[in-house]
Amino acid sequence: MPDVSLPPAPAIEGATHLHSGKVRDLYVLDGGEHAGALLMVASDRISAFDHVLETEIPDKGRILTALSLWWFDQLSTLVPHHVLSTDVPASVAGRAVVCESLTMFPVECVARGYLTGSGLADYRRSGEVCGNPLPVGLEDGSRLPDPIFTPATKAALGDHDENVDFEAVVREVGDDAAAELRALTLAVYRRAEDVARERGIVLADTKLEFGRRPDHTIVLADEVLTPDSSRFWPADAWQPGRPQASYDKQVVRDWLTSPASGWDRSSQAPPPPLPVEVVERTRERYLAAYELLTGTAL
Ligand code: ATP
Ligand code: MG
Repeated sequence: MPDVSLPPAPAIEGATHLHSGKVRDLYVLDGGEHAGALLMVASDRISAFDHVLETEIPDKGRILTALSLWWFDQLSTLVPHHVLSTDVPASVAGRAVVCESLTMFPVECVARGYLTGSGLADYRRSGEVCGNPLPVGLEDGSRLPDPIFTPATKAALGDHDENVDFEAVVREVGDDAAAELRALTLAVYRRAEDVARERGIVLADTKLEFGRRPDHTIVLADEVLTPDSSRFWPADAWQPGRPQASYDKQVVRDWLTSPASGWDRSSQAPPPPLPVEVVERTRERYLAAYELLTGTAL
């Protein structure tokens, strides 16, 4: 397991630090109208190959927070979401939300409409992805006949998520919840894919997280349909049979795996700091995704 060390979460007055993930810091609000609710703060941290990089991408936290809020709104007729308020302490303004504290399902709910990444690797090995049989002859970037649910187990910090089949989700959360998670994930994907397509973007796949309220309602949580959780491809450049250009951290991954970085991915060594031009190009990709999708500047 790679060594993941996070910077200490900054203290926020009126909130108690609860947990830090690779990108977000979670706090519990001590008092006020939403006492006991979570304050979810998106940092400018970026992760690649299961490492949190020491270089940050300026404005990434704001971009991801604003994009998630826009999508929660687009999806609100399909599924309830966890956001209670965007009125947050000044030190985290624009990159935090107050949200319901849910009991999260320990499942990464992934929908794929196109084949690439770990889905492509599974398909090449077995002809299927997470128990979904697929036609022969698909290549990197192929559109699937129908979107598929390809869940993964949530890994501990620094470990890989692992693709699993639907039966594994049933064992984890029970029949009813598993069926509901699958239906909601595919419904969100279909809606989002339509919206993105109208804006010239292919939504190849996306990862959602859901939780339950005390009354058992299933609620869409975490971040949604951001470049960190999804693959967005420029529609006019889409061409199956090769890796696609994308609005995400591909610039970072490409640099890290190039000779220029001097980094050996298979070593336990942490990745080196990113050069300024890689930071700037990555920031531009995240901003472009935001602006194309929402039609507004940040
Ligand atoms: P993890 O913390 O699971 O290792 P990660 O590194 O991707 O994953 P982040 O995305 O940085 O973590 O942090 C967000 C964390 O907050 C995730 O653990 C996610 O499951 C959790 N989370 C998101 N929304 C809620 C919510 N409404 N209630 C409780 N937990 C939530
Ligand atoms: Mg996460």
